[in-house]
Amino acid sequence: MKNTGRRKDWDTYFMDIAYMASTRSRCHRRKVGAVLVQGKKLLGSAYNGAPMGMPDCSEAGCMIVEQYEMETFEDRQEMVKKQRCVRTIHAEQNLLLFTDRRDREGSSVYVTDQPCWTCANMLANSGIKEVVYHREYNKDREKVEHIMHECNIVMRHLSNYVIPVGIEADVMH
Ligand SMILES: [Zn+2]
Ligand SMILES: [Zn+2]
Repeated sequence: MKNTGRRKDWDTYFMDIAYMASTRSRCHRRKVGAVLVQGKKLLGSAYNGAPMGMPDCSEAGCMIVEQYEMETFEDRQEMVKKQRCVRTIHAEQNLLLFTDRRDREGSSVYVTDQPCWTCANMLANSGIKEVVYHREYNKDREKVEHIMHECNIVMRHLSNYVIPVGIEADVMH
């Protein structure tokens, strides 16, 4: 887009919709929303959730796995024990399941949270050309940025974006 003044408006618009989608998530630990955009046209929206017909996190509780992960602090790296919910299909994966490859060619994905490593790999193979995200996900950040770069997919961080006031409390994790 040439007019950089308008650009932020569209970014805000589509990120707002991604956050609206994330309010549908039933996982208490993490609510993620994603939308697919071709030009200025919305082609689909998705959120993280259990497979159809399976109990979701609000019914069956989160499915927690504990794992050690390397965390970077200001001056050092440290192994820390983390809990993650693995009951849900991630928003980006649902988005790819419910859209057509042909529609995705050259499109953008707006996602509330920076994709994890698995989603990044799937997005890299999906035909999209850009990922726009708001909240950072430090666990996989370096390798995700690397693979996106290698696959010529632009990653943009909307660091100045503000979550709409009305849904802010619903989407915090
Ligand atoms: Zn959960
Ligand atoms: Zn993911």
